[in-house]
Amino acid sequence: MTVKEIFESMDYGTAPESPAEALAWLVDQGDRFGHFIDGAFTDPRNDFESRNPATGEILATLTQATLPEIDAAVAAARKAQSKWQKLGGAGRARYLYALARQLQKHGRLFAVLETLDNGKPIREARDVDIPLAQRHFYYHAGMAQLMDDEMPDREALGVCGQIIPWNFPILMLAWKVAPALAMGNTVVLKPAEYTSLTALLFADICRQIGLPKGVVNIVTGDGAVGEMITAHEGIDKIAFTGSTAVGRAIRTATAGSGKALTLELGGKSPYIVFDDADIDSAVEGLVDAIFFNQGQVCCAGSRLLIHEGIADRFHEKLRARMGKLRLGNPLDKSIDMGALADPVQLKTVQDMIADNPAGTHFTPPCDMPATGCFYPPTLITDLAPADRLMQEEIFGPVLVSATFRTPAEAVEMANNTRYGLAATIWSENINLALDIAPKLAAGVVWINGSNMFDAAAGFGGMRESGFGREGGWAGLTAYTRPKGHRKALKPQRPHGGDATTGDAALDRTPKLYIGGKQTRPDSGYSRAVLGKSGAILGHVPVASRKDIRNAVEAAQSAAGWGKSSAHLRTQILYYIGENLSARADELAARIDALMGGKSGKAEVETSIDRLFTYAAWADKYEGRINGVPMRGAALAMHEPVGIIGAFCPDEAPLLGPISVMAPALAMGNRVVLVASEPAPLLATDFYQILDTSDVPAGAVNILTGSHLDLAAPMAAHMNIDAVWSFSSSDISGEIERASASNLKRTWVNNGHARDWTGADSNSFLAAATEVKTVWIPYGE
Ligand code: NDP
Repeated sequence: MTVKEIFESMDYGTAPESPAEALAWLVDQGDRFGHFIDGAFTDPRNDFESRNPATGEILATLTQATLPEIDAAVAAARKAQSKWQKLGGAGRARYLYALARQLQKHGRLFAVLETLDNGKPIREARDVDIPLAQRHFYYHAGMAQLMDDEMPDREALGVCGQIIPWNFPILMLAWKVAPALAMGNTVVLKPAEYTSLTALLFADICRQIGLPKGVVNIVTGDGAVGEMITAHEGIDKIAFTGSTAVGRAIRTATAGSGKALTLELGGKSPYIVFDDADIDSAVEGLVDAIFFNQGQVCCAGSRLLIHEGIADRFHEKLRARMGKLRLGNPLDKSIDMGALADPVQLKTVQDMIADNPAGTHFTPPCDMPATGCFYPPTLITDLAPADRLMQEEIFGPVLVSATFRTPAEAVEMANNTRYGLAATIWSENINLALDIAPKLAAGVVWINGSNMFDAAAGFGGMRESGFGREGGWAGLTAYTRPKGHRKALKPQRPHGGDATTGDAALDRTPKLYIGGKQTRPDSGYSRAVLGKSGAILGHVPVASRKDIRNAVEAAQSAAGWGKSSAHLRTQILYYIGENLSARADELAARIDALMGGKSGKAEVETSIDRLFTYAAWADKYEGRINGVPMRGAALAMHEPVGIIGAFCPDEAPLLGPISVMAPALAMGNRVVLVASEPAPLLATDFYQILDTSDVPAGAVNILTGSHLDLAAPMAAHMNIDAVWSFSSSDISGEIERASASNLKRTWVNNGHARDWTGADSNSFLAAATEVKTVWIPYGE
């Protein structure tokens, strides 16, 4: 063939990468692996095999962890943790740096082993997975170095159980291990059954660099091992990436255990193309969005939403481009798509497509390897929004497509999913793109690009895509907690006494406060509130699940609060403070009567101060521009969570609801507050102040009633985005369990006391916001 002929056909041959070094490493290990516990490999057993999904060849045999082995791993991690923490950030930084360097030095070995084990194209393993994993260790070496200075009030959580999937084995390991270690935690990590080999190679380099024993422990096995880690009492935090179904099971299993939890789950991410987009670039971006890693990407742009006027032209170009994709030996540097990770996953994808024949299916003619887990690139058009393939994660190289007419319709269709992981917008009109980005329910938005990742930029979802961020400053919150000893919270029950005697002059029967109006409870019941002396001070309504429903409806209708300017929110919070100050004496007396003692005046003063603090924060809790290695900006925007249901502390009847409400309002959330159970009258007094402070109807709703009875309905409500509890009733577990319904974020006290005289603004503001990362590359 002449050069001229080559230019005419643009045909190119194969360029296979040699597997020799990776296979030799496996042979060196005896092709059999035990677990990595307390700095050493355990004796291997032949429990299950790891196969190359492109060829079916057995690569190694692995060991299924038993409970005693997990006990040993957790014990090793526990033993190592305090010393690792005491080493200090700078000491830990040295080890993280050494791990980053080793990942770099052995980059080729890691990439080839990953491709052999997972089936992904070597080009992707070499150019994406491994460099990003290295970057994560470098970045977090820096975070460890800075921790003592920049995060003096925070400390490690302890022992972290980490469970990762098979789509990005070493990258997911890096996302989990690097921040955990940087912050002084130790880890017990379980890779996915199909893809454990690079985790075991990582264990080997931990040994080589002399990482203290027990700091990293790796146990292999299937989902049962994940379950045992999740249930283990010696673990302080679970970090999970995987399917929404397993994420939900983990949420339920850890409920009430006091374990911290982050979940990075599935998605059905929209890829929105407006009619003014650079179409050729958008097609190229889409190839990356859905065919990268054979579509086995949680944030894959798997739902194309295309402006109606350009749909035919776009689909035509896309089909032509799909026809050029090469499938084949993942070790060949010239292929675009490799194998799916396992025959089980291949069958899942095949069955899902076979069971859902709706729409027009297109697969280009392509040379499919005769064996191995290969699935061709597929486009499905003409689906209805509610069709299963439009709604469910397929996790394979299958793109679904629908059209829209207006930007508003694009947003509505994009958000018509239970997920909220990522989204892509293509438009040459940056004003339009920046207008759409905040309207999308997604933790990550890419403008004119896709699948951009970096250790400095938070990644994570909203809704049923999970909670917590990985990467950036936001990611560190998930591996730390405020310093200091946590005291137990004593249950506070309503005061007893003779409910038949009272001071008529003081008796009042407030109602619930819903949608800016005083409303009778649906149950029609009320109960007497007694002061410390035993005298009746008033009656309060007993709210039920129906009142929660009405309060949430009212909060939904106040959605405009989230779009109001920070300046306006500041002014309103100051105004509430001012009006509270005007009634200070009366409220102080009420607190004294309810709680006994003379703390009322101080509590009112601190409450006014708290309102002023969050009025101050409303326009100052800013996002950042992350330092990603790209010509462009990756914005970390602070967005409101949405509707927050909160159980107020029992022990601080006025300061409690204000401390909870003010940060939520300041950040643009709407709230449904359940007042202190023993001392609800202050919260009901407080709504008169709200009435006179220009708070929009529905932005704040106040209920009174039993915390125990209202916990589950609040946490299970599908339109509440987060539930917080500072109650002295034992409802933390109930809230976490019921929250699994829509995987709402929860912040509960697990029976620990809080000092309400301090604001702890950082914790409250972080809980009141979602970090949305918006990637804006620039240049022509
Ligand atoms: P899973 O969510 O089941 O697996 C993720 C990890 O969790 C693996 O290490 C798995 O172990 C482990 N695990 C499984 N069950 C439990 C459990 N009950 N408790 C604790 N840990 C558990 O994903 P699958 O591999 O089964 O894939 C199923 C589907 O999930 C895919 O088709 C895809 O749609 C989706 N998925 C989504 C991912 C994402 O990033 N969003 C990643 C992977 C899958 P093991 O695999 O060893 O059995």
